[in-house]
Amino acid sequence: MIIPTLGCPSNCSYCWSSEEGSPVMSIETIEEIVNWLKDFRSEPVTFTFHGGEPLLAGYDFYKKALPLLVNELNHLKPALAIQTNLWYMTDELAELFAEYKIPIGSSLDGPEEINDYQRGEGYFERTMRGYEIAKAHDLKVSFISTFTSYSIDFMEDIFNFFLENDLNLKLHPSLPSLRDENPEKWALSPEKYGELLIYLLDQYLENIDRIELKNIDHLCKNVFTRRGTVCTFVDCMGDTFAVGPDGSIYPCYRFVGMPEYVMGNVHDHPTVEDLEKSKPAILLQEFKDHVDTECADCNYIKFCRGGCPYNALKVNNETNKAEIKGVDPHCTAYKIIFKEITDRLNKEFSSSASMMFHGSKSENTQSKPGIMSIMLKPI
Ligand code: SF4
Ligand code: SF4
Repeated sequence: MIIPTLGCPSNCSYCWSSEEGSPVMSIETIEEIVNWLKDFRSEPVTFTFHGGEPLLAGYDFYKKALPLLVNELNHLKPALAIQTNLWYMTDELAELFAEYKIPIGSSLDGPEEINDYQRGEGYFERTMRGYEIAKAHDLKVSFISTFTSYSIDFMEDIFNFFLENDLNLKLHPSLPSLRDENPEKWALSPEKYGELLIYLLDQYLENIDRIELKNIDHLCKNVFTRRGTVCTFVDCMGDTFAVGPDGSIYPCYRFVGMPEYVMGNVHDHPTVEDLEKSKPAILLQEFKDHVDTECADCNYIKFCRGGCPYNALKVNNETNKAEIKGVDPHCTAYKIIFKEITDRLNKEFSSSASMMFHGSKSENTQSKPGIMSIMLKPI
């Protein structure tokens, strides 16, 4: 992940990943990222531009950065992506992103009223303006909708908004932040998150040809393949890194801007071993150990892996330092949804087996798409 700046023009109530006055990454830092990665590892790499708001870096930055990353690191088969609120999207930028086939992730929390209540007045209009520009250049745009303790009461309105406007949806549960003085205010409880996932699973099955619901796709595919398909459900540490505006390397974008999580700097070209020896890497390795013991008896351990280590960090009020004392607090939600998917899958299997043996439709035969149709849906 490349974080060109932590600056952001919007002021979303629950956001913890922006910082006023943050510097913007120079093109020399991109050159150093390229030099560092030339001999770092040999697996394919995905570069996701994230923020803050990455479009603040401007057209000239991307005009130079994209060919550097793609051409100089050709041997790593680089894929590109960007996460932006789209406010600064222009025809010029959209044309450039179309040239590099960059999929766009943006953020919208539902209909204008709900969205602007959480993300600030005028947000909806500015994002939709950028979306129209991106669409005019045939860019693929998906939206992340952050569900909070407030918006959870409007889940039907939010889902219907995405469905009726032909927008793909990925959901994000609002998290207590490590940097916020009132971290729980907007946070979605694990129980409510579990209920939301089940609601969305049902809605997805009703509307599978009309909308893409990425989280539900990933959760079903996890159960089907018995392995995690997104970072939350694999041992992410060591496979994800984020580079901040000054070239500092962090374990993930969620830590950017927190000095105690700096693992090294791209200007020093650290090796894999150098990063493994850093303090944040040692702290986060503890998470894996916790998972291996705390989740040992869980049926879902192979494709959950304890969830996200950032979520598991808790600030110790005495030392004022973050510690890992358990697994991802969304464990309750993960158990609810993995159980539901597994139960429905087993029911579908026994129903098909009964049809095979008895040559007739059983009572449970469904006329609407079942879990298998999500598991086999290409994404
Ligand atoms: S810390 Fe969480 S968000 Fe970051 S890469 Fe790991 S699982 Fe993903
Ligand atoms: S569902 Fe909970 S107990 Fe099971 S692996 Fe995930 S975090 Fe661990």
